[in-house]
Amino acid sequence: MLEVLNINFSYDKKPTLKGISFNLEDRKHLAIMGESGSGKSTLLKIIYGLLAPDKGECYWRGKKILGPNFQLIPGESSMKLVFQELNLMPHTTVFENIRKNLSVFEQENHTERIEELLNIVEMQEFAHTKTKYLSGGQKQRIALAQAIAQEPEVLLLDEPFSNIDQFLKNKLRLQFFSNLKEKGITLITASHDPEDVIPFADQVLVIKNGQTVAIDTPKMLFDKPKNRYTASLFGYVNELPIDLLSAYDPNDTNILIYPHEFQLSSDEGIQAFVVNNHFYGGHYLIESVSKKGHTIYFTNPNALKIHTLVFLNVPLSLVNKRMVQKEV
Ligand code: ADP
Ligand code: MG
Repeated sequence: MLEVLNINFSYDKKPTLKGISFNLEDRKHLAIMGESGSGKSTLLKIIYGLLAPDKGECYWRGKKILGPNFQLIPGESSMKLVFQELNLMPHTTVFENIRKNLSVFEQENHTERIEELLNIVEMQEFAHTKTKYLSGGQKQRIALAQAIAQEPEVLLLDEPFSNIDQFLKNKLRLQFFSNLKEKGITLITASHDPEDVIPFADQVLVIKNGQTVAIDTPKMLFDKPKNRYTASLFGYVNELPIDLLSAYDPNDTNILIYPHEFQLSSDEGIQAFVVNNHFYGGHYLIESVSKKGHTIYFTNPNALKIHTLVFLNVPLSLVNKRMVQKEV
């Protein structure tokens, strides 16, 4: 188990992490999600032992993770951290860059292992290319191959797919994460892209301004988000005053509704006029404005004519799960 206990950290007196705690069981996958600047990268560096927390500590399998002041080579040896800023040898081939991460004792298997790793990240053709000639996304893929070369106990990934084109990303993510699961590697991924982590994570830690907003399974965070910040990790979310739904009194409560959850009716519901259609491949995201002036996004299989009057309904089963306090 990885135990992270009450981590507090400041860069030059500026509090960056405030009381972060969680436990992660062996072989599980935790996603750290939060907006840019929320402290994700800093937290990974503390877990890995590159930065010393002002307060709090981390343990891996009962052993305290020592900070940079206690180690000759910073970084916990049973872990690997893949940084946002990559660290490849530019004048050396992809093959050599990966080989330097393999054990010197099993040299006879190196070629086979490197081929296997290049397969996982779909970089077979580039084995003999110098890394300075690679694109940002290709470099990122080599860094991922390096990180799993020696099968660390814990892998920490910082925005691992941020430079990889959409075209390849989906396949690569599936391949890479299922390889880690197969090998039983405990994983923490920091990302602000829900698609990077939500389908693969067992737990999600949501942070904002260095503080824990929520920690739960992706499903629970989606179904019953405590606030809009959490809900918006899943994509666009509407936050509307509850009195837009008839039968609910005006008060200090809002309701969070994802665009795909509205049901259209021909004569009852929230009345809104279509103002724009956005094509998303499988559906349209339709922008509308209610009679009271609230912008509401909903999905529909087809585009709708501008100015069409629609009646939007929120399923009753959602109302109780999605009420949040209005922020003042
Ligand atoms: P994230 O990875 O979620 O984008 P970071 O952990 O990189 O967030 O940064 C958290 C906060 O700490 C930000 O406000 C950032 O500007 C600040 N910060 C990050 N690195 C440093 C540093 N080396 N020195 C001073 N401030 C930093
Ligand atoms: Mg970061």
